[in-house]
Amino acid sequence: MIRINHIGKALHPRHVFRISRASRPQVENVFFVLEQDGVLGYGEASPNSFFNENNLDVQMSLAGLADYFRRQTLSGAEDIGRIWSEIWERVSPSRACQCAVDLALWDLFAKLRGKTTAECALGGPVHDIATSATLGICPPQEWEERIAELAGFPAVKVKLDARVDTDLIEAIRARTPAAIRVDANGAWAGLDIEAISIRLRDLGVEFIEQPLLPSEDALMESLLRKSALPLFADESCAGLGDLERMPGRFSGFNIKLVKCGGITPALSMLREGRRLGLKVMVGCMLESSLLISAGAVVAQEADFADLDGSWLLRDDCFSGLEMVSGRLRLSSRPGLGVSPIFPSL
Ligand SMILES: [Mg+2]
Repeated sequence: MIRINHIGKALHPRHVFRISRASRPQVENVFFVLEQDGVLGYGEASPNSFFNENNLDVQMSLAGLADYFRRQTLSGAEDIGRIWSEIWERVSPSRACQCAVDLALWDLFAKLRGKTTAECALGGPVHDIATSATLGICPPQEWEERIAELAGFPAVKVKLDARVDTDLIEAIRARTPAAIRVDANGAWAGLDIEAISIRLRDLGVEFIEQPLLPSEDALMESLLRKSALPLFADESCAGLGDLERMPGRFSGFNIKLVKCGGITPALSMLREGRRLGLKVMVGCMLESSLLISAGAVVAQEADFADLDGSWLLRDDCFSGLEMVSGRLRLSSRPGLGVSPIFPSL
């Protein structure tokens, strides 16, 4: 029997979840713990308002699964996929909810086997994951300090709004040899994106993410043909069902576990993306080391990783995942390899 051990925006009343480097002052994620045979499996979701998700709705949907879980037992890996599908009618349309459940199941299953989640899900040894660090939109007087924080990262992802401030790209290029990627967050409607792509290419930028909003996806076909740089989908590609619309419109896509519903669909997206000839990036929201560890499992088979979510936190509530010079090192402990940090009283 599986039992829901905990649902909440923290694992402990004294847990805080503050951000040190991102522009938003706080974030409310959902933590979800399943228990079988006295073993705990930890899950997390980072609900995002862009996808009409919020913390309270996710918690309420998860609470509604208590009876369902009492009738379940995790015996084999196939049970994870089965449960992931079966809960959809109870939690739809919340992929964040599915994500929290999926992570808790993968963590629990691997711990019951005494193996890492990566061993159970991928079957092979893991390697460190080079990740980009995000530089959010900030005034020029902050550039110096913000760029200095990125020292050592092999790649930088720069958010550029409709002003397309290429001075910032030049400032980064002058101070670090890191690869530079640009994320427009859909803000470039009405701009000459072909000209922008040429300018960014000449500044050494590697690719552009989500130049237009998903509502303007029909324009992407001609844009991709004219662009001097590869174009990646983020908001335009939430889950497996969006993949078939990607070829011809985007060069690749950004998988986020909370958008698609966890490790289980993310691995399917990765393999389907490969079949379609698309490049694959694994990204994140603001997330603790728990969700980032799950992302790093999927990123083992991806082309790019943008998994700086826990690095951006002042108070990460899990330990076990290491970040060494912009490279994520998964723990070799069973499950997702991280443990909650319970503050002392
Ligand atoms: Mg993005």
